[in-house]
Amino acid sequence: MLRYLPPQVVFQEVPDQVSLAFVITGCPLRCSGCHSKHTWSASYGNQLSNSQFSHYLSQYQSLITCVVFFGGEWHLNALIEKLKIAHQYQLKTCLYTGLEQVSDKLIKHLDFLKTGPWRADVGGLDNPGTNQRFIDVKTKQCLNHLFR
Ligand code: SF4
Repeated sequence: MLRYLPPQVVFQEVPDQVSLAFVITGCPLRCSGCHSKHTWSASYGNQLSNSQFSHYLSQYQSLITCVVFFGGEWHLNALIEKLKIAHQYQLKTCLYTGLEQVSDKLIKHLDFLKTGPWRADVGGLDNPGTNQRFIDVKTKQCLNHLFR
């Protein structure tokens, strides 16, 4: 079961989209210098059921164009269920993961994907030297330039 922090509407995490962002707790990757260490505990936050998630989308549907998850790939099936629901609401989907790649089973439910762990020495998506990549899944185009 996914656990999450209260979602927020964000404007910059997915280019040209207004997104409802869910931080999923319990990230197992332990990047050095992670800015979100307080979310590492798998018991932190509330459980995100499909009905609660649908309720959020019903509330925000007229305001947003996309749903972005910060993590959650470690609960693969639960995350895929949410991505399917988002598409049913005609919303695009995005995942920020610290992994270098995700499975075919997951990626086919995504419109956008950010990959790569946090590395303080090369910075995030706004840094030309970053190890991270933000891609449009359908076109496979790297969109990092849109964060600078
Ligand atoms: S993937 Fe993100 S949340 Fe997880 S440890 Fe790395 S920086 Fe922190």
